[in-house]
Amino acid sequence: MRGCDCCDEPAVARVREPDRHFCATHFTGFFEDRVASTIRNDDMIKPGDRITLALSGGKDSTALLLVLAHLMPAWENVRIVAITIDEGIAGYRDETVRAAVELTADLGIEHHTVTFHDLFGDNLDTLLVGREREACTVCGILRKKALAVAAERYGATKIATGHNLDDEAQSVLMNTLRGDLPRLVRDAAQENTCFIQRIKPLSLTPEKEIAIYLMINNAWKVLPECPYTRFALRAEVRGILSKLEYRHPGTMTNLIETKKKIGRYCAGAQVSEPIRRCRECGDPCSAALCQVCRLRHSLGR
Ligand SMILES: [Zn+2]
Ligand SMILES: [Zn+2]
Repeated sequence: MRGCDCCDEPAVARVREPDRHFCATHFTGFFEDRVASTIRNDDMIKPGDRITLALSGGKDSTALLLVLAHLMPAWENVRIVAITIDEGIAGYRDETVRAAVELTADLGIEHHTVTFHDLFGDNLDTLLVGREREACTVCGILRKKALAVAAERYGATKIATGHNLDDEAQSVLMNTLRGDLPRLVRDAAQENTCFIQRIKPLSLTPEKEIAIYLMINNAWKVLPECPYTRFALRAEVRGILSKLEYRHPGTMTNLIETKKKIGRYCAGAQVSEPIRRCRECGDPCSAALCQVCRLRHSLGR
């Protein structure tokens, strides 16, 4: 059996970028160091920050909470509030909400649940009847709004989400396949100052390593998948990209590099849309109505 590259213990995990073998302890160290350096290199967390962490109870956000809870003692006066958004998806959310409640109780982290029903008057399932194909778009817009409301409610200075390297690479490819260059450039650029800054500390961490980290730290749970993912382009892109990554390691990192380069080339050339206020709710946006209010109209509400 192959040993750990750093000690005499047997290896339990192999990572491919760079190609290394680790025991449980050294894998955890490697994993958390990369998250710490991602945070440091992009200046994601500052002393005094109050971070709202979007905790779905799924793999990514669970790993994010565990890492941040481990790293937190090294940061000056930083607090984390975990927020679970309950969209109202039958047979899916109940278990993940329960997992989120248990985890935060174990770690002693403040936790709140915000429901679509309270914020938008109905469950996602009801809002989506007849438009299931748009599920991820509709849900994405409403989740973003729900998180912003929660962040404001609990006095957050940052919103942290569990997006990993695979998610980020998929988004670059999806925007490219859709021909949505403006979105690609917008994603690469700094977030607008009108909104609470969003940070993604796992954005350089592959999904596979998140699974290993959870297993090693006894936090692995088999949870139901969102029933709407089968309608999404993302599911197909995910399959293609993970095949490519397996055969050509580094593919995903290269996609992220491409996005960053496009962002840099476009930096001066970007025509930034003026920030306006939504006519109906007053939220900052780039058109007469914000996305949420536009959605509300199209849903006939
Ligand atoms: Zn070791
Ligand atoms: Zn609005």
